[in-house]
Amino acid sequence: MPRKCTVCEHPQAEEINTALLNGVSLRNIAERYSVSKTALHRHKESHLPADLVKAREAREIAKADSLLDQVIELRDKALSILAKAEQAGDLRTALQGVREAKGCLELLAKLQGELAQEGTVNITISPQWLSLRTVILQALEPYPEARLKLAAALREVEANVGR
Ligand SMILES: [Zn+2]
Repeated sequence: MPRKCTVCEHPQAEEINTALLNGVSLRNIAERYSVSKTALHRHKESHLPADLVKAREAREIAKADSLLDQVIELRDKALSILAKAEQAGDLRTALQGVREAKGCLELLAKLQGELAQEGTVNITISPQWLSLRTVILQALEPYPEARLKLAAALREVEANVGR
């Protein structure tokens, strides 16, 4: 007969599962719910409901997806502004585009910060980010001044993100 699991049998098993999924330390959980660390470890390895684990992964993937959507939106926006600037041969419009892009990047950095706290993706090393970065810098080639400003803004954002 397999031994009974004190965690599965626990009246607050659901709360314990949530704590385990949120990465709360076994010691903390053991103290809070008066169960042994050994039982928690065994429970985590073999009993933690698989669908709960999957649900959490799905949530994180959804979050990462919406972040990538933001990157794509930002790219489209920046490109359309830069295209207008190119048509007009207008540095002021190009700089406005850079400011717009910088605002989006800051928002992105904030989102990224929220994700990083949960230890998921790093946008600055994602292929989408790198291609966006390259596209914007290329589009700004006719505008060296704007290009320098954007490059500085990008470095700033990336430094903040990397923190
Ligand atoms: Zn169990």
